[in-house]
Amino acid sequence: MNIKDLEIILKESNEPTFRLKQIIKSIYQDGILDFNKINNIPKLLKEKLIDFKILSFGIDELKEGVDSVKALLSLEDGNFIESVLIKNSTGFTVCISTQVGCAMNCSFCATGQNGFKRNLTSEEITDQILFWKNYLSDKKIGNITNIVYMGMGEPFLNYENVKESIKKFIDPGFFNIGARSISVSTSFPSSVNIEKFTKEFPQVNLAISLHFADNKKRSLYMPINEKTDLLDIQKFIEKYLEINNRKIFLEYIMLDDINDNEYDANKLIEFVKVIRKNYLIHINLIKYNSTFKNFNSSKKEKIIKFEHYLLREGISVTVRKSMGEDINGACGQLAGKKII
Ligand code: SF4
Repeated sequence: MNIKDLEIILKESNEPTFRLKQIIKSIYQDGILDFNKINNIPKLLKEKLIDFKILSFGIDELKEGVDSVKALLSLEDGNFIESVLIKNSTGFTVCISTQVGCAMNCSFCATGQNGFKRNLTSEEITDQILFWKNYLSDKKIGNITNIVYMGMGEPFLNYENVKESIKKFIDPGFFNIGARSISVSTSFPSSVNIEKFTKEFPQVNLAISLHFADNKKRSLYMPINEKTDLLDIQKFIEKYLEINNRKIFLEYIMLDDINDNEYDANKLIEFVKVIRKNYLIHINLIKYNSTFKNFNSSKKEKIIKFEHYLLREGISVTVRKSMGEDINGACGQLAGKKII
């Protein structure tokens, strides 16, 4: 929601200064997206706000799956993004997008294959949570407990807007979500922005999309590795754990016969073991969901074998349940296209 525009209307209408706070509470905390449904504002003001758009996008399509819902959102300039709501054990996690497309061009990812169009504004990022809050409050089925920046785009290439959105999420006057319930995932394109983030939001979780522990392979499937490689990531993790002393997550998508063999497990063990406080590193093994590209997920037995191999070496690891495959809303499947 464009708060500045709303402020102007309230001023022009000679509304008392507390009015803005009242409206913000109803929208951001109660999930009300219709001024007519806000009880404590005057009728005359409701009439003045009749054309004021709360969300910065339209809802083009919604696809509901067993454990998740995917929304295709149409932006004002005609671009599309996707956002996913996922059931968790205590409520709901929202996976949000930060860019239209992605310039990182990871070969196994549907978003990357569509190229980069533009950064989302901070409003377009926070409005995704507004939208899902309203969806949940209408259905009366629970609350948002977690936010993950794992949708379309690379968050650290849109750092200023991502930063503004996190500020709103954790602000008690707005969304009031605990910093520890927010996770930002990166393929590691810019150590400068990641360092800034670590200082500015020490309580927000950081996940690095590692996926390969061999430089040649990582460069082959994730071109960004040519710029910031595994050594850069290791150096950063060392620094992060020195300053922050809290858990850091490594995401590892399991691709059949590409990064799931004993060789790859050994490289991953080597990668982790050279880092001093490696007991603070946690690896998430993620089942890959087939997109239009010719990549397959590793077999279940192979994923378990890989996990056990790491566990035997004392490495903290879990196999993450992949949600949303039935609606093409799982990791690597968000393409910002019509839902088919
Ligand atoms: S995996 Fe992430 S960083 Fe890579 S192309 Fe997809 S959205 Fe971008």
